[in-house]
Amino acid sequence: MTTEAQAKESNAPVVDPNLLPIADGKSVRTYSLGLVKDNRSALIKVVVMHAFAAIAGLAGPVIIGRLVDAVTAQSATTTYVNLSVAILVAAIACQSLITRFARRLSMVFGENVFAQLRENFLDTAVGLPLSVVERSGTGDLVSRTTHDINRVQHTVRFGVPQILVSAATVIITLIASFLTSPLVALAVVAGLPLLYFVGRWYLPRAPKAYIEESAAYAQIYADVTESVEGSRTIESLSLTAARRELVENGIDRAMAAERRTLNLRTVLIPGMDLSFAIAPILVLLWGAFMVSQGHASVGAVTTVLLYTTMLVGPIWDLVFWLDESQVAATSMARIIGVGQVETDRVARDVEPEHETISGSGIEYAYREGHNVLHGIDIELTPGERLAVVGPSGAGKSTLGRMLAGIHPPTGGSVTVGNVPLIDLPLEDLRGHVALVTQEHHVFVGTLAQNLLLASPDATEADLRRALGAVGALEWADKLPEGVHTEVGSGGHTLTPAQAQQIALARLVLLDPHTLILDEATSLLDPRAARDLEKSLNAVLSGRTVVAIAHRLHTAHDADRVAVVTAGQISEIGPHDELVANGGDYADLWHSWQQK
Ligand code: ADP
Repeated sequence: MTTEAQAKESNAPVVDPNLLPIADGKSVRTYSLGLVKDNRSALIKVVVMHAFAAIAGLAGPVIIGRLVDAVTAQSATTTYVNLSVAILVAAIACQSLITRFARRLSMVFGENVFAQLRENFLDTAVGLPLSVVERSGTGDLVSRTTHDINRVQHTVRFGVPQILVSAATVIITLIASFLTSPLVALAVVAGLPLLYFVGRWYLPRAPKAYIEESAAYAQIYADVTESVEGSRTIESLSLTAARRELVENGIDRAMAAERRTLNLRTVLIPGMDLSFAIAPILVLLWGAFMVSQGHASVGAVTTVLLYTTMLVGPIWDLVFWLDESQVAATSMARIIGVGQVETDRVARDVEPEHETISGSGIEYAYREGHNVLHGIDIELTPGERLAVVGPSGAGKSTLGRMLAGIHPPTGGSVTVGNVPLIDLPLEDLRGHVALVTQEHHVFVGTLAQNLLLASPDATEADLRRALGAVGALEWADKLPEGVHTEVGSGGHTLTPAQAQQIALARLVLLDPHTLILDEATSLLDPRAARDLEKSLNAVLSGRTVVAIAHRLHTAHDADRVAVVTAGQISEIGPHDELVANGGDYADLWHSWQQK
């Protein structure tokens, strides 16, 4: 059986070298509708309020129309005119007031929808399988978290409310035109077919063209910045002509993209303007005819004409925001795509029988068909220290990640107390085995909050005990507000050694029985090495430890040493035994000692 077939048989996740998934159009629509549905009552309020505002706005043309009729009939008294003006002013004031509340409501609606989107995204992002984040790199995730979220933000906060408002205004104004005079109103819709065709032509073409345009500019900026930053290298290697050509090609591409978007606009803008110009002309001509036939009054024509001009603003807004929302939809697809990552494990309700971690036939492939581990069997004796040594690229770190349950193996299994690690819920898993790398992050918040991340229910006494265990209590108590001092970016600055101690204190709180130390030696800042070594030893004591050793003296102190070569354990046993056997480890040991 080929390794590929084996990988498939073991239900291994398909290892996709590509980035995170991108959602299709249907998922984007379903998700967006879901967001709108979740905020349905707020949405209804927004639409109703804007409908009221639009209705208040309809009063103006009606009053003016009636005034025209009264003047035409020579029945307009001064009182009538004054009263009309007073009503007109009242209607405008009323409309402004309602608009104020309606706008406020729609902004709150937009903010809520966006907040929900962002929260959903954060939940998804932090819940991503670690193996996926490792594989796709954090760059893609960060770009979706920042660039794409920003692009969607504007449209969700301002665009969605504006689309609703404009649509409501257009519909209500059209209805009002028909109520005023159905016959005259026919002319208003005469401009719509042209508008429809222009829109239908423009909208599907626009997003691709605008995305290409911004991509072309982004490329120019990247090329120019790179050329400036690397100017010395460019000069010394005589790459000037090549760099110039690169930028010139970029400019050509941007020009072509500009020309395409310009072409789109040269159809859209005159097309829309024409339909906006045609509609009032038609209303006037058709209205005059209707008046001459006695089917409408001059006032009614005036009212419908004013309504027609009132449609221009909202229709422009509609087209603009529909256009923007198409571009935002491409970012939305990237945001929702993150949620489509398949989980790499399904937790079962199981309890390990004991604390022994054991791996059998462990295989792992980062890329399908290219195994880097070839059937490793290993059993950790509780409380032992196992050093893993071997040449660079042999698979030591990969084995470490398997034993810590970060990647599910593509073949074989790793169990704790006879339960596969990947069957445990993540929070339970971390109580059994934790991977310690050189990464240590101080989060914005108090020192106590930083520690509580590892164990949310810990009491202050627990926190102090953990700090004490790693020798950090003394300096922590000297902070301005003790463990309640704000640390992290913008707060009290901690030294790298202190940050490392916090990372270790978190481990004490997490209290796993097994620790996998990868790059553990670089965990120790040489300047503070002695103190930190003490802290680290305090954390390690009483636990099973797998230390991926990059310096052999750590191996010498271990209970057993495993030599990993080309994805397999070639030797395993106590240091002295391996040296006596005269195998690979003995060679490594002797050559290291001679250095
Ligand atoms: P070691 O820790 O012994 O230096 P690793 O476990 O880091 O070895 O790597 C084992 C092999 O797997 C190497 O050939 C390495 O190139 C490959 N590898 C490691 N990490 C990845 C990754 N994220 N994606 C693809 N290949 C990887």
